[in-house]
Amino acid sequence: MEITLVILKPSAVQRGIMGEIISRFERKGIQIIGMKMIELTDEMLSEHYSHLVGKSFFGRIKDSMQASPVVVMALKGVDVVNTVRKLSGVTNGRGADPGTIRGDYSMSIQENIVHASDSPETAEIELRRFFSENEIFNYSHYLIPYLYANDEI
Ligand code: ADP
Repeated sequence: MEITLVILKPSAVQRGIMGEIISRFERKGIQIIGMKMIELTDEMLSEHYSHLVGKSFFGRIKDSMQASPVVVMALKGVDVVNTVRKLSGVTNGRGADPGTIRGDYSMSIQENIVHASDSPETAEIELRRFFSENEIFNYSHYLIPYLYANDEI
């Protein structure tokens, strides 16, 4: 099983749709094994968005991500990194497919509701950035036999 990191951005927190987004992951059969509300620091954001630091809009992204606390989540499942990226939709909410989180809730490139890790390697680094070991809970998920066939896990 893989673990991935999701951030419910200020655009989700302020619009009061955290519960709706979390429900989507739960209903899909993805296990939530860590979740907390935090304020993102300048340092965290410069690391997290290091690929965008040189862009003209980086300052705007930082302000947007610090506009309110965010919720960081650790999600577990088979191929969960790729699955959660698909559930999230492409970066620009206006172009994201209907049925995806961004496609259903966002009209913006910047205010696009969620962050989701883009590869298992990135997920590992990002999870370590936002969670300490004792904040990830490897508890039994009793629905596993109803979520997967034996040979899938
Ligand atoms: P993704 O979040 O889909 O993996 P990126 O890593 O390219 O996309 O960008 C990180 C975040 O930076 C995006 O989710 C979005 O909030 C913001 N962003 C990306 N490109 C732009 C842009 N051109 N203008 C404003 N914000 C942007």
